[in-house]
Amino acid sequence: MPLAVNLRHLEARNIRLEGSLPVAELDIDPRDEVIRVCHPLEHELEVQRLEDGLLVRGQLHLVLECQCVRCLKPFQHHLELADWACHLPLQGEDHVAVVNDCVDLTPWVREDILLEFPRHPLCKPGCRGLPRASIGKVRSTGDTGRPDVGSPAWAELNKLKF
Ligand SMILES: [Zn+2]
Repeated sequence: MPLAVNLRHLEARNIRLEGSLPVAELDIDPRDEVIRVCHPLEHELEVQRLEDGLLVRGQLHLVLECQCVRCLKPFQHHLELADWACHLPLQGEDHVAVVNDCVDLTPWVREDILLEFPRHPLCKPGCRGLPRASIGKVRSTGDTGRPDVGSPAWAELNKLKF
């Protein structure tokens, strides 16, 4: 089920839309290897009919599976839009598409959710990466794919500093 409003239901009063939008419907491609969308989008919205269009207001909540760009630790990022609002014109040049009396809200939700994605996901503010002591531990478990201060990635970063 896409996130859609049936305009016929809106004539008398506002509509409340509550539930979750499956990953496949949300269809977000973060274009970023360190962020994955694997949980449905929780939403609690109220749709109001205005003279010239629709006003949608409410909350959006999406849990992202992220990988810290500094220490590579996987963590969950809770993306919360507590006061999301969107005005959808039904007339004029920029009017939204109405199919069988329904307006699909998904494209607007998708766009605004994407804008809130963390650019450089960090497991905690100011994460300093893997401490030297734990690099040894990581190595001993056979996982050698982690960056340490001597790796080429760090050499590149150090170049940028000067
Ligand atoms: Zn981290």
